[in-house]
Amino acid sequence: MFTVLNQPPEDLDESSAVWVPIRSGTVFTEPGGGLCASPAAPVGNASHPAAFLGVLDGKGVWAVDMDPADEPPLDEGDLEPVPLRKLYGRIPDEHWQIAGRAAQIVEFERTHRYCGRCASPTSTNASDRAKVCGECGHMAFPRLSPAMIVLVERGPEVLLAWGRQFPGRFYSALAGFVEPGESLEDAVVREVYEEVQLTVSNVRYFGSQPWPFPHSLMCGFVCDWQDGEIEIDPEEIVEAGWYTADNLPPCPRGGMSIAGWLIDDWLQRTAAVSSR
Ligand SMILES: [Zn+2]
Repeated sequence: MFTVLNQPPEDLDESSAVWVPIRSGTVFTEPGGGLCASPAAPVGNASHPAAFLGVLDGKGVWAVDMDPADEPPLDEGDLEPVPLRKLYGRIPDEHWQIAGRAAQIVEFERTHRYCGRCASPTSTNASDRAKVCGECGHMAFPRLSPAMIVLVERGPEVLLAWGRQFPGRFYSALAGFVEPGESLEDAVVREVYEEVQLTVSNVRYFGSQPWPFPHSLMCGFVCDWQDGEIEIDPEEIVEAGWYTADNLPPCPRGGMSIAGWLIDDWLQRTAAVSSR
């Protein structure tokens, strides 16, 4: 079990620890993919000390910034560089989430060494996960960008769209970033209208997922079609349509992203209704 902490607890057993060395979104793991467990820290950049993330099964967990200019940690043969996305499924989900947290904290530490207001050097705040400026007191927190993802339902059908960002013919739920001044529900209604010109109602929360590519928080929703015909925004979408459970196009199912969880949940609910 993993417990999030910003500082090592006083009674932490230091005979072993878990290290998550990160370089440009790549995680250095044990050969075969497990997180690196050893008493000694892998070599990191001395100007970026390891950041404490919490306690995993009694062991302290540290993120280590491997600056591109650094030598690889330990010997090349000892640790294996694995891009964070590819690490999914190779280690327990909880460990993958820790690796995602490490990638975000390393990025935060790296990009907040100086105050954004007065450019003086910052220091780490003792209690919160924050950087504080010694000159002007400005505080900066890790960057998180909330985004919403929504499955629009119309009777036995759902709306799926082939987004321009997908490399091949692949459909998913609509998604977009939340704008300042907006609630998550406002963002759902606006994004659906912008992307496919549909009006929706009855927006229901589904669940959320940290998405460390690079610092999103994906908030999942389902809602009901209310009015309109699909008219895609060609800048964002190649094609969008209504699909029933027995004619789904290529789309995520379960797996690492909340898009797959939304579609699986809808399929289960649809199957339950049709078996009544
Ligand atoms: Zn300042």
